[in-house]
Amino acid sequence: METLEKTAKSIPLKLFAKYIKKSIKEEEFEKQMELPEQKSPLFDGLLSVIVPCKNETEMIASFYAEFEKTIATMGNPNYEIIFVDDGSTDTTLAEIQKLAEKNPQVQYISFTRNFGKESAMYAGLKSAKGDYITIMDADLQDPPSLLPEMFNAILNEGFDSASARRRTRDGEPPVRTFFAKVFYDVLNKLSPLKFVEGARDYRLMTREMLNAVLELCEYNRFTKGIYEWVGYKTKWIEYDNIERPAGQTKWTLWQLAIYSIDALTSFSSVPLILVSFLGIIFCAFSALAIVFLSIRQLIFHNSAYGWTSMICIIFFLSGIQLFCIGILGQYISKIYLETKHRPHFIIKKKS
Ligand code: UDP
Ligand code: MG
Repeated sequence: METLEKTAKSIPLKLFAKYIKKSIKEEEFEKQMELPEQKSPLFDGLLSVIVPCKNETEMIASFYAEFEKTIATMGNPNYEIIFVDDGSTDTTLAEIQKLAEKNPQVQYISFTRNFGKESAMYAGLKSAKGDYITIMDADLQDPPSLLPEMFNAILNEGFDSASARRRTRDGEPPVRTFFAKVFYDVLNKLSPLKFVEGARDYRLMTREMLNAVLELCEYNRFTKGIYEWVGYKTKWIEYDNIERPAGQTKWTLWQLAIYSIDALTSFSSVPLILVSFLGIIFCAFSALAIVFLSIRQLIFHNSAYGWTSMICIIFFLSGIQLFCIGILGQYISKIYLETKHRPHFIIKKKS
């Protein structure tokens, strides 16, 4: 299709190629959202759906429509949907309130400011009353159509949770894909827990697992890590990446970098051990250097000799020291934030 678009020389042909490309994308999108029929409710009990939202005006109504379609194919089970408005500056809250007026199953929590997706998810999880709990992004990148398969894993296959994993990252900027891969490689090497690449926050879990998740009330939250830490049997459900139909990602590369360092230091103390080893190696190396330089001075008496190498070593060691202090600083800042016992979020309005 790309080639057709490129080779189309005239403007009408180009427009035609673009139109076909768009309709194929829409068709693929519809296919990913397709569901089988279901007559009676798929499960007994209440399903809580948590949807963190920041500036999602364009997505609220279409998300809800898509979700309702899924619920209908599941035989209309009992559910509550909790939208968490994470300090949106657009009309997201108004959109949610419109839905809540029409449907008592729709609830919302609105923060006083943007506290971040982690806090929004935590607020939703804390107020969920369901027997089964799920978190979904508002932008439909977490397809609600996976829910029946997730329920099947819990109800019939003996899993405690079912989680979505993106098989592909098509449509994502290549830089982001590259850093995501590096991040998962490093995290898996440094942490005793195993992190699945492409894992989403989108997951269906039992009340028992949620209660365990809520026992971890740390300030620096990395939910994917918390899921791994609490254990329980998880089934991974793979799907192809879905591009955002409207709006745009709320994460810049810089924010993702900070989030990655947070995740790393939250679930691994290996960097501290590495720093200690580095210290030992450099001490041993400098002891050897002292012996060598002293002997050379005693024999040749040429102290000015080696000035360049000395400066290089000083630069190098200063760099290493600053790097290590930086790592220590990360852990200290975590302790600092934890000891303050600040709330994770402040609620301005609630339904
Ligand atoms: N989100 C949020 N608070 C934030 C950033 C994002 O609640 O500070 C929500 C956002 O509205 C969406 C979900 O988290 O429902 C995922 O965000 P986004 O689509 O921007 O992330 P990406 O899919 O690009 O990783
Ligand atoms: Mg998204």
